[in-house]
Amino acid sequence: MARYTEASCRLCRREGTKLFLKGARCYTSKCAIAKRGYAPGQHGPTGTRRKQSEYGMQLREKQKTKRFYGMQEGQFRTVYSHADRQRGNTGVNFLRLLELRFDNIVYRMGFGQSRAEARQLVTHGHFTLNGKKANIPSMTLSAGDEISVCESSRAKTRFKGMEVSRTVPHWLSLDLENLTGKVLQIPNREDVDAEVSERLIVELYSR
Ligand code: SF4
Repeated sequence: MARYTEASCRLCRREGTKLFLKGARCYTSKCAIAKRGYAPGQHGPTGTRRKQSEYGMQLREKQKTKRFYGMQEGQFRTVYSHADRQRGNTGVNFLRLLELRFDNIVYRMGFGQSRAEARQLVTHGHFTLNGKKANIPSMTLSAGDEISVCESSRAKTRFKGMEVSRTVPHWLSLDLENLTGKVLQIPNREDVDAEVSERLIVELYSR
């Protein structure tokens, strides 16, 4: 799969908001947004952000959300198509499907410092899903699904004596002692803390 390999902080600066792409560093004063809150590029702090057209706003919102969840355009569009085929509000369905991705849930439970790390932990086969080995980050989980760190991975430094500094959302549970977590319920819109206007993304993809 194609991967973005440039400086992650540039993405946050481009979107003008924290996307939390670098784990613990994002919560410190070393965060590039705190130090250089202007857009990247040769014009530096004196460069002004141009007034955006409606299309520009929709595009930026889509790019921001895609980057926040660490996805490529193709996968992102596929998830949107699934959401569009579901009953109910497409925007809310879309956010819900993004939140229910295996890699996102691993991140939300605190097993990974960032979504990129969570994704890597999944692809490297460190987890089981409902007792079976699972290594596909894009899988959509359901209420009642249980994630566990594999027996063979429990001794690794990453998991041994693991601590979670972020709050685990109420729709998930985490048992740190046994290194397991569970999806308690499907999240509602208000459970998703991503600062995203899903309406703009729906408008963009409905053009
Ligand atoms: Fe974004 Fe994190 Fe870099 Fe801050 S430290 S700019 S939140 S990736």
